[in-house]
Amino acid sequence: MVALLPPLEAPVEPTEALRRIAFLLERNRAGTYRVEAFRNAVKALKEIGDDELQERVEAGTLQEIHGIGKSTSAVVEEAARGELPAYLESLQDKSGGLLASGGEDLYAALRGDCHLHSDWSDGGSPIDEMVLTGIELGHEWMVLTDHSPQLRVANGLTVERLTKQLAIVDAINRGVGEAFRLFKGIEVDILDDGALDQTDAMLAQLDLVTASVHSKLRMNSAPMTKRMVAAVLNPRVNVLGHCTGRLVEGSRGKRPQSDFDARAVFEACLEGDTAVEINSRPERQDPPDDLIELALEIGCLFSIDSDAHAPGQLDMKAYGCERAERLGVPWDRIVTTWDADRLHAWANPGSQ
Ligand SMILES: [Zn+2]
Ligand SMILES: [Zn+2]
Repeated sequence: MVALLPPLEAPVEPTEALRRIAFLLERNRAGTYRVEAFRNAVKALKEIGDDELQERVEAGTLQEIHGIGKSTSAVVEEAARGELPAYLESLQDKSGGLLASGGEDLYAALRGDCHLHSDWSDGGSPIDEMVLTGIELGHEWMVLTDHSPQLRVANGLTVERLTKQLAIVDAINRGVGEAFRLFKGIEVDILDDGALDQTDAMLAQLDLVTASVHSKLRMNSAPMTKRMVAAVLNPRVNVLGHCTGRLVEGSRGKRPQSDFDARAVFEACLEGDTAVEINSRPERQDPPDDLIELALEIGCLFSIDSDAHAPGQLDMKAYGCERAERLGVPWDRIVTTWDADRLHAWANPGSQ
């Protein structure tokens, strides 16, 4: 069950204070640069021991450590003195609550996430930090879906790199125990002709495939419809990511939705047993309400995903839950409310 993190209280470990500040900044969409200071400070502290930390706090020489600056050293000093750091306290007071009002019960009923990125592609944090935060938030499973090779701007993974990543996913699963599963996945580009941007042999090794259009978003309706229908009917594809490609706000500017026959695409989703993603990112809010209603009427499954590029953004699923609840999407048709076994069986029919 996904839940809101309870606020930290004194005493708090310096690294926990820094991690939580980064988390709160990320979920409230602070710039990467600002968040990085806190994430880097955690790394820096892990490299020195507790004794050195105490000595430096007493001597006031924390800022001599590479990766510790003015604001991060203040946090570390306050935490080391047994206080709740003032900056953490103000962030918790101002912005520690649920991100959306509405959909709270559905949010609590979520168990997983079918779309998230690590620093292997264009995410900001290593896989283990995404997993640790996901577990802290109560996820029972998550699918790691870094980008595919064509998306070079996002450092998309070649077969070789994805193969290496899969070994790391195995190692993480051995380490975290039974209560959580990290599934192997990909956010694969849907190429212009509807083919997928990864070899079939590679896709066959994955637990779940989210497929998205990232190029030629302004294609005419007929070829775009054909492209999307081909992808969602592909037996390897389980989730159709941010289907319209629209951007409604934020630093990347606005972008209109792609032009396609939504009825035809969602009917193909139903036929291909592909879930329609409700992408929770506030700048996407994709699909728009009318298309969620259409997919609902057609009988599609849905996946409420974060599309997180940083740990704190895992919390953004609250926005998707608000929309799904308001539009009356039944919980059982949302695959991210399912447990890990059901999710895996659905995404891998015939493997049981
Ligand atoms: Zn995408
Ligand atoms: Zn993505």
